[in-house]
Amino acid sequence: MKRLVLVGGGHAHLSVLDKLAQKPLPGCEVILITPNRYQNYSGMLPGWIAGHYTREQSRVDLQPLVAASGVTMITESVTAMSADARSLTLSDGQQVTYDLLSLDIGSETQTEGLSALGTRLLPVKPLDDFFDQWPEIQKKAAHQKEYALVVIGGGAAGVELAFAAQYALQRVGAQGHVTLVVSSDGMLKGHHPSVRRRVMAYARQVGIVLYQQAATGVVDGLLFADGHRIYADQVIAATGAKPLPWLRQSGLTLNEQGYILVDGCHRTLSHPEVFAVGDTCARTDVQMARSGVHAVKAGPVLADNLYAVLADSSAHLKTYQPRKSSLYLLACGPQYAIASWGRVSFEGRWVWRLKDWIDRGFIKRYSQINESSVNKN
Ligand SMILES: Cc1cc2nc3c(=O)[nH]c(=O)nc-3n(C[C@H](O)[C@H](O)[C@H](O)COP(=O)(O)OP(=O)(O)OC[C@H]3O[C@@H](n4cnc5c(N)ncnc54)[C@H](O)[C@@H]3O)c2cc1C
Repeated sequence: MKRLVLVGGGHAHLSVLDKLAQKPLPGCEVILITPNRYQNYSGMLPGWIAGHYTREQSRVDLQPLVAASGVTMITESVTAMSADARSLTLSDGQQVTYDLLSLDIGSETQTEGLSALGTRLLPVKPLDDFFDQWPEIQKKAAHQKEYALVVIGGGAAGVELAFAAQYALQRVGAQGHVTLVVSSDGMLKGHHPSVRRRVMAYARQVGIVLYQQAATGVVDGLLFADGHRIYADQVIAATGAKPLPWLRQSGLTLNEQGYILVDGCHRTLSHPEVFAVGDTCARTDVQMARSGVHAVKAGPVLADNLYAVLADSSAHLKTYQPRKSSLYLLACGPQYAIASWGRVSFEGRWVWRLKDWIDRGFIKRYSQINESSVNKN
């Protein structure tokens, strides 16, 4: 009996669980280790903040999925790993060994320079914590005069969070305002200038104040490079990704930032029995943005590769080939969105409807798999 261990219930592992439900792996025990039976979906987080979705609509319940796929789920976090000993240590002290391992553990938020903010700081990741804490922030904003909410981060996540928060504060009748702080090299790097123009125009229209300057956290707000300070009741950090810290001692080969180095088949460079996918990995053959699109699209390739290696460790594996440009749909708060696709951009209520259809479809796909749906097939 071989043991395949999946760590993290991230986007790509949903595909692996789906495949296991459709085509069980005889002679193999499969374990999923993930801190929470619910997998929150970041694509719907801005819509949840804005009040378009409930929390239940914005996540996948892994329990029916693991039941259908015959997988044992352990709801703990991995806190350490020895790749040479093929062993994982979990938050409850348990040791789990494996023959084949796949890591889809995402990333954390880079909060360097912001720690002086203490409890005023809320990083967007881990998402579980963000989902738990946002309702409290909204409640405070509704009851406090001139609530100052700052979102720091000029990527797609920062922009969407600022728009969503502004809309949410309006909806609850808060007298607060939202400020978006982006680094000196500007917002939405890698997107076409027309997308930036649309986003800036929309931010102006809804009254979001924009700062384009490096900032550090102080006890009651942010201090900019030019010495200017702003007060903040709450700072939401969407300041980019950083890898999980325990990877440093794992024995896996990492890049300088600490991401797991993988080849085009998502096999680690150092340990052929370990695969990594999504935000936690860095491809050696192509430059790939840390975005859910790639974690989703690499999922079926990962699933096929895990099956192939279990059948024959020297099997020929598939490569995940990322497309040159991906479609990004930026939610604007109300049911309105801006699209960015290579050199093309567009916006409107219909763009929101497209995003809504894609996102709901993603959740629905994995929420429909359960023991009875599999038995019927
Ligand atoms: C507000 C926001 C909006 C976004 N919108 C989009 C979008 O529209 N399109 C897009 O392409 N990207 C978007 N992204 C980026 C996207 O969230 C990430 O790129 C994506 O989640 C990465 O997927 P993943 O599978 O690598 O990890 P995740 O989806 O983060 O999954 C990681 C999993 O690992 C688990 N885990 C973490 N640590 C451990 C541990 N120690 N032990 C065990 N399990 C662990 C987690 O609980 C989770 O289940 C957005 C990000 C944010 C913040």
